[in-house]
Amino acid sequence: MIFPLPPNATIGLVGGGQLGRMSALAAARLGYRCHILTREPDSPASQVAASATISDYHEPNGLREFAAAVDVISFEFENVSAEGLDLLASLKPVRPSPAILRTSQDRVLEKSFLNGAGVPTAPWAEVGSLDELRAAVARIGLPAVLKTTRLGYDGKGQAMLRRNEDLAAAFAALAPKPLILEGFIDFAQEISVVAARGEDGGYSAFDTVENRHRDHILDLTLAPARIPEAVHQQAQTIAQRVADALDLVGLLAVEMFVDARGRVLVNEIAPRPHNSGHWTIDACPASQFELHIRAIAGLPLPPAVRHSDAVMKNLIGPTETALWPAILATPGLIPHLYGKAEARPGRKMGHVTRLFAKGSLPGEFGIAAALGPAAPRVSDPV
Ligand code: AMP
Repeated sequence: MIFPLPPNATIGLVGGGQLGRMSALAAARLGYRCHILTREPDSPASQVAASATISDYHEPNGLREFAAAVDVISFEFENVSAEGLDLLASLKPVRPSPAILRTSQDRVLEKSFLNGAGVPTAPWAEVGSLDELRAAVARIGLPAVLKTTRLGYDGKGQAMLRRNEDLAAAFAALAPKPLILEGFIDFAQEISVVAARGEDGGYSAFDTVENRHRDHILDLTLAPARIPEAVHQQAQTIAQRVADALDLVGLLAVEMFVDARGRVLVNEIAPRPHNSGHWTIDACPASQFELHIRAIAGLPLPPAVRHSDAVMKNLIGPTETALWPAILATPGLIPHLYGKAEARPGRKMGHVTRLFAKGSLPGEFGIAAALGPAAPRVSDPV
């Protein structure tokens, strides 16, 4: 396939979730078709895409059928096996490259890569036994977080270590999976940057945003982050350094902590659209999903500018999904629903965005008022 992809070419997306759905909608606007690889017969992405292959992500026949139907392959979901990635890459161009996906799939590879590129992270150590965990805690100190190196998300596969007595139980709960110990960062804020990089090295990054989690799941994103200019600059420099060091062709989210001293440390990277970039659909002329599609299709990258400030609130589980009629009836809330049949607890069902004139993002207490029915529960600090 010759890049840039011509109109009506077919983009293959691995994964059928909401990130694939919103990528497919952006692709359609640019005149492309999407073909989704998903295990689910009625996935959020395949509902809005031209076609789909229903298969396990590790099943060679399914991967071959998917690759045969598309011109270029990208991802909304990263956890494809190494063999699966190699098979796909032998059949069609894969963007971002399999090497980038392998780095981001494994917290040890990811942190080694980041530190090697001069990007600061929490102190960390690979842990293969309880003795190694004790030695790592002696070096890094407590509190610390023990995590599985692979397949963890939204706080799954993690244990907080506060006292030496916690070590054995945490190790027993997570082993025999490969593990990493990370020093606990007493962060002042969690921030992220979403950036795209093209095959010619062209680069566009959205403003740094601030993320609030609840029960380890993203709850709110505030765009822009309310941080000093120096912190914003650190975050932007780090994102570009990571994209360049990866030789990225595609989209990348960099999740970071700001510590009490204003230092920026990377928590993790995701080479795909990211929940903390959903606000860009409504607050930017070209969203993270459009930049994702443009980057993998070899199209020029527009600047990642925003015309408005924004607050994005995820709608998680049955309680928040029940607010849907009230959200629809509230002027100013921009609703997005992902087409999932069942609102299980912890499941991201949709999101709402509220726009503000640039420079007028409300302070702590104004956010809940601005979101009206979608506001976080009153016990929250916002
Ligand atoms: P992760 O799965 O690594 O993205 O972690 C999920 C959430 O757990 C992060 O967004 C943080 O709120 C928290 N967390 C993870 N690692 C650390 C750490 N080393 N220090 C403090 N908080 C952490």
